Amino acid sequence: MEQLIKKSLTRAQICEEVRPGPSSIIIFGASGDLTFRKLIPSIFALFKKELLPKQFYLLGVARTKYTDEEYRNEIKRWLLNENEALNSVLSFIERIFYISGNYDDDSLYKLLQEKLNSLDKMFETQQNHIFYLATPPSVYLEIIRRLGQFELTKENSGGYSRVIIEKPFGSNLETAIELDKELHKYLKESQVYRIDHYLGKETVQNIMMLRFANIVFEPIWNYKYIDNVQITVAETLGIEHRAGYFEQAGLLRDMFQNHMIQLLTLVAMEPPASLEDSSVRDEKTKLLKSIRMYDTYEIDKYFVRGQYVRGTVNGKEVPGYREERNVNPNSYVETFVAGKFLIDNWRWSGVPFYLRAGKRLKKKISEIAIIFKEVPHSIFFKNNVELEQNVLILNIQPDEGFSLKIQAKQPGSKLCLNTLTMDFKYNEFFNFKGPDAYERLLLDAMVGDQTLFVRSDAMELAWKLLTPILNKWEQDKEKGLLFYEAGSWGPKEANELIARDGREWR
Ligand code: NDP
Repeated sequence: MEQLIKKSLTRAQICEEVRPGPSSIIIFGASGDLTFRKLIPSIFALFKKELLPKQFYLLGVARTKYTDEEYRNEIKRWLLNENEALNSVLSFIERIFYISGNYDDDSLYKLLQEKLNSLDKMFETQQNHIFYLATPPSVYLEIIRRLGQFELTKENSGGYSRVIIEKPFGSNLETAIELDKELHKYLKESQVYRIDHYLGKETVQNIMMLRFANIVFEPIWNYKYIDNVQITVAETLGIEHRAGYFEQAGLLRDMFQNHMIQLLTLVAMEPPASLEDSSVRDEKTKLLKSIRMYDTYEIDKYFVRGQYVRGTVNGKEVPGYREERNVNPNSYVETFVAGKFLIDNWRWSGVPFYLRAGKRLKKKISEIAIIFKEVPHSIFFKNNVELEQNVLILNIQPDEGFSLKIQAKQPGSKLCLNTLTMDFKYNEFFNFKGPDAYERLLLDAMVGDQTLFVRSDAMELAWKLLTPILNKWEQDKEKGLLFYEAGSWGPKEANELIARDGREWR
């Protein structure tokens, strides 16, 4: 009994939300899409849940000219449109301030210094600053250099100074290393928070719980029992209003360098010794080092890239990628990628990891499917009729949860087998919609927990893996680019990639 009480006490303590000390968030790019759609609503959600410290303020920085009052009104309008309660919105916006200027202009940073000094005093935030770079990546370096030159990245005056950097972090291995090198002139790695919002999603965090808080999965989580792993991140949306960005990036940079590789890493890494950020990040790095790098001549064999053409998505006709606004009508940028990854270590020897992601696909879905091997000897069917394999599916969105497919007897006098699905849906079980990924990550940044942020070495290793592929595609340009109808599952060659191994996408 005593032990039980002790255990449940510990569990309750674990569940307690960590409350950050005095903090401020300074958003560069405060007039932009990410700020309004994700950052402000997430900070507001933390405010409503009383997870923000009492000593807190938010300062927006961008080129657009607003007074504090005008910026507050923009935010008020946005939140009221989202059906938020007027009273809470009014008390929230009292903590919001705004300054404008050009990022390459010293006077902006002088103004910033003055503003921070006065706001730190007013809100007693002890000079604790989180700078969030929500601008286009082309200005990241400029901002960091100036913050450094104006000593805003220094921590020796008592408070902390942390910088959250949005993806994309560089555009290939070379530019990522260059950006990192420059960053480290002004910041220690412990001050850098490279954000990948996928890591803040409840179900992504649950991968570690599922694997390492249960005894049943880990013993079979290896080449002896797992046949293959499939990771799919499919979107029905096109590029929306982000043509400028997407034309530069393409899908491999946009999805694989960060989200897809991170998901793979969480599924495949070894159990960390503890939940401490360095421990988890060390295991991720170790895993990344064991992903096989292909020779240039193998790239076409293991990777398929496609671009959508006009088609029908959710019953509505949509234009092809080259017909989208601000897209080059001869663009060879990929909107779909499928690839086969192999991990050269003891646990995963010979187990392929098939990854695919794309825009304007048939269904919006993000999931990881762990497909187990067949039973070694079937006593149920003669004539080599195959039994369906067990599959564990981790649903990341939209129906967050997981399901396990198993074989069971169908009621009746005959010996008939059927596939059952044991389903767990987060929302149904907990009767609670989990927080947005940005809420979790912003809170973690305020308490200084870097576990869910990408460390420099992991970022570099992901680029190292993908840069040869990008180089090959850049060389080949249109050669090798396949076309798929919007509303399909991508080019048929993506099916052939996996069919060659005698498998199919589930
Ligand atoms: P926006 O294109 O909306 O730009 C943000 C703000 O930056 C703009 O409001 C603008 O403000 C300023 N800006 C635009 N162009 C320039 C420029 N050339 N020089 C200086 N400032 C400029 O970007 P998002 O908000 O969509 O994204 C911000 C960052 O977050 C990007 O790095 C993006 O890749 C990343 N990201 C975005 C996601 C999203 O869903 N939007 C998702 C994941 C990552 P002003 O003109 O007032 O200065």
